[in-house]
Amino acid sequence: MNSTFSDRQYDLAREELVAIIRKKGITDPGVLDAIASIPRHVFVQDVFKSKAYDDSALPIACQQTISQPYTVAFMTQLLQIQHGEKVLEIGTGSGYQACVLAHMGARVFTIERHHELLELARSRFETLGFNIASKVGDGSIGWSQFAPYDGIIVTAGAPDVPSSLLRQLKDGGRLVIPVGDQSTQEMILIRRQGEEFVRSRHAGFKFVPLVGKEGWQS
Ligand code: SAM
Repeated sequence: MNSTFSDRQYDLAREELVAIIRKKGITDPGVLDAIASIPRHVFVQDVFKSKAYDDSALPIACQQTISQPYTVAFMTQLLQIQHGEKVLEIGTGSGYQACVLAHMGARVFTIERHHELLELARSRFETLGFNIASKVGDGSIGWSQFAPYDGIIVTAGAPDVPSSLLRQLKDGGRLVIPVGDQSTQEMILIRRQGEEFVRSRHAGFKFVPLVGKEGWQS
């Protein structure tokens, strides 16, 4: 692609991206439809628009990243969202993941620690017509005001599973969180069954750190 792109070029690039993530094993029709529908180029700076539909993470402001589309799809598929469910996202970043969840019919709550990023994400929610609740704060302690949640998705790497997030899950609710050291993390899915928390472990990923009271200290 050269420096200016038509809507048609973006549409074609998005279709190719969906084919790539399908080939990598994403099967959930709702997830594939969301990736096919959300204009990822709206979430990246001008200089990266030509790479918006590459299956790769890209830099955003505040030295953070918009996650790789496959990673977004993988985590969203693990979350098993049903229409109308309440989902908390920790780490709004660009706002792309929140829009994927909202497109799937979730009622989305999202928290970001960087004010500048949240302001940009909010303007994208408005432009794209998504009604998403958001705040600046430390998401490692969740958002107790609106708990419990059917799903919680943490899009930054944690040293451990924050106990506040477990407490804010509904019975039957799912938490998806990358846990490990600051270089690589294992994706963990936790399903609450009464007072039991059933864990399964999935592939390795690399995220920016979850910085906060129940995350990394700096
Ligand atoms: N989900 C984002 C998207 O779709 O663009 C990508 C998230 S980026 C990989 C991780 C984000 O988590 C960063 O924007 C970072 O500032 C944020 N973050 C890190 N620790 C946090 C915390 N304790 N509370 C809220 N946000 C946090």
